Amino acid sequence: MADDYVRRTAITRLEVTDEQRDLLEDTISEWKRGCQLATDMAWGKCNTKSDVQPLAYDDVREHTDLGSQHAILSTHQAAQAITGCIEQKAKGKKVSKPTFTAPTVKYDTRTMTLFDDDTVSLSTTESRVRCDLSLPDADDGYQRQYLGSDEWSITESTLTARDGDYLLHIGFRRPKNDTERNTAEDGTVLGVDLGIENLAVTSTAYFFSGRELTHDLREFEKVRAGLQQTGTRSAHRTLEQSSGRELRYVRDVLHRASNAIVDEALRYECDVIAFEDLTDIRDRTGASWGHRWAFRTLYEQVEYKAEAEGISVKQVGSAYTSKRCAECGFTAEENRATRNEFRCVKCESEANADYNAAKNIGMRYVRRGQQSSRRTGNSQLALKSGTVTPNGGYTAYPDGFEAEFMDKPHPPRANPSG
Ligand SMILES: [Zn+2]
Repeated sequence: MADDYVRRTAITRLEVTDEQRDLLEDTISEWKRGCQLATDMAWGKCNTKSDVQPLAYDDVREHTDLGSQHAILSTHQAAQAITGCIEQKAKGKKVSKPTFTAPTVKYDTRTMTLFDDDTVSLSTTESRVRCDLSLPDADDGYQRQYLGSDEWSITESTLTARDGDYLLHIGFRRPKNDTERNTAEDGTVLGVDLGIENLAVTSTAYFFSGRELTHDLREFEKVRAGLQQTGTRSAHRTLEQSSGRELRYVRDVLHRASNAIVDEALRYECDVIAFEDLTDIRDRTGASWGHRWAFRTLYEQVEYKAEAEGISVKQVGSAYTSKRCAECGFTAEENRATRNEFRCVKCESEANADYNAAKNIGMRYVRRGQQSSRRTGNSQLALKSGTVTPNGGYTAYPDGFEAEFMDKPHPPRANPSG
């Protein structure tokens, strides 16, 4: 992406009173209405901020309780969503008018102020609220390297409601050094977790269900087992024919999944797709031969499709990716209470277990160079902000895109001529 800035996001919970909660809820709901109103007005007419804002601003002000700056931002959000649709359409994708359902609201430096005492002041539909940031204890918090830094300045931030909590995704940026360029070594990484219930889950919260594959594989294995017992020549021929058909179903599912993974990487402008070590998946999931074959095939499909797009595909060690909390890094058996649910016993964050694993897999690739002093990469993990919902259809790009960086700060790259 042609951008002169390195962008990072620090995510933190807010401590809110009941009164503040009501105001934030109201602001989120008015924000969604404002974005929708502006989108409805501009859809099919215009898509730049400078066109959508004068078209929709007065109506947003009149029909919502948003303050003037939030009204402006909502027209910009609408412009961005419509532009995303136009880009998708240019790639031959089917698009429909964006709808704003995610419980989020955008902030900029006019509507949000961070203070040195770890509090933040946020505009709402009424008065401003001032809340404490609920930051991790001293050394655990990667957020500190941005919050207290002269190098990083605040840009757009997003407030997201999730299970009664408010998460603030604070956007930071700093100018790029001359030598910084997005390559496989310091670009954006998409983490992918493979499994049986969910065939694939990405660090951007894209869920590809495993149900269809499991069904097709079962049919395939049934045909195969039944015919092998018969053992005759004609049975052998029937096996070849029917496995041709059953196998086609299986391959078709895998192609759809691999396309979806590569699309997700393109959508978030990723340079690397990271999977966990495929031999580890076999041990961990206790998968049947069919699933093991399917994982390998899916990986190979992603590999060649991604390479055609200039994206590299890597495997990382999978130790503890299912037991480590992607939010605070705490690793424990108890974090994984059930098959699907991840609940960190330290920071209490909850997530779909496969989604948590996908973030860890991507993060492992991001952090891969820590032991090596030669590495001065700036990799980041592609994440989606907001509530994690199993894939519910089309979301307007780049709505909710966040890149998170949890590594320790690196020194600037050494003199490239040296
Ligand atoms: Zn945690």
